[in-house]
Amino acid sequence: MTSPAMKLVVVGASGRMGQTLIRVISETEGAVLHAAIDRPESPVLGKDAGELAGVGTLGVPVTDDPLKAFVDAEGVLDFTVPAASVEYAGLAAQARIVHVIGTTGFSEDDETQIKAAARHARIIKSGNMSLGVNLLGELVKQAAAALSAKGWDIEVLEMHHRHKVDAPSGTALLLGEAAAEGRGISLKENAVKVRDGHTGPREEGTIGFATLRGGSVVGEHSVLLAGEGETVSLSHKATDRSIFARGAVQAALWGRAEKPGLYSMLDVLGLSK
Ligand code: NAP
Repeated sequence: MTSPAMKLVVVGASGRMGQTLIRVISETEGAVLHAAIDRPESPVLGKDAGELAGVGTLGVPVTDDPLKAFVDAEGVLDFTVPAASVEYAGLAAQARIVHVIGTTGFSEDDETQIKAAARHARIIKSGNMSLGVNLLGELVKQAAAALSAKGWDIEVLEMHHRHKVDAPSGTALLLGEAAAEGRGISLKENAVKVRDGHTGPREEGTIGFATLRGGSVVGEHSVLLAGEGETVSLSHKATDRSIFARGAVQAALWGRAEKPGLYSMLDVLGLSK
């Protein structure tokens, strides 16, 4: 007997990713939109979530009461802002449900609070929910390990649309972490996120980041391994937000059968060791 469709809540329902998630859930067998949540001041409260996302009436009005929505749901899909995601993680822990976090730009304190919530919630968190980027991370780890720090410099380059509020992107940091892991070093201690003015020569073993913003670019990332006389470039280009939404729904469905804990997209995709 097949289990009934998983009841999912979309928070940040008015956002770019929120609307994409509502569309993708409506197309996914085994998942159903249970509730749609936005901020108390949001102009979309009371509107039908399906109409808002352009998929026709779903009979699910947007509300501002997450706890009420979480209590009867099985999972929450969250691409909002760090402060909101930390709060939603606490509520997901109370409701003991799956919380898929795609939000980026967390502080160390936020990360600690999310880890604490994962004692009771099944949290799947990733700076990028696409299959392609998670595979790229694995390739970057291998390349960074194979091309030693001496003579091979690693730089992470990214471009996103003009509305993005955090930098470097969550994906750039994910790729930087993969490179650091390949090298067996700490990203925190070796990252160079800003260069301006007379910086002096590049310090050996560091991992540099460069950020471009403009237009409607969904997300482009390259990891460059630059050596003497040759450069290896590993890249990913997202042309449609639905890749992240499909990954998030897949993560929720996967999390349904897991124990409470903090997981990544690598666990969902079976790429973790
Ligand atoms: P967006 O269009 O600005 O949407 C953000 C949503 O969050 C909006 O609905 C917004 O509501 C809501 N929100 C803002 N402040 C809130 C609060 N205090 N409480 C509750 N809700 C709040 O942004 P987006 O492009 O969808 O991106 C959202 C996040 O996902 C970003 O962190 C982005 O980097 C990340 N992202 C991750 C991936 C991935 O694969 N992991 C992919 C794409 C994007 P209002 O409109 O009312 O302000």
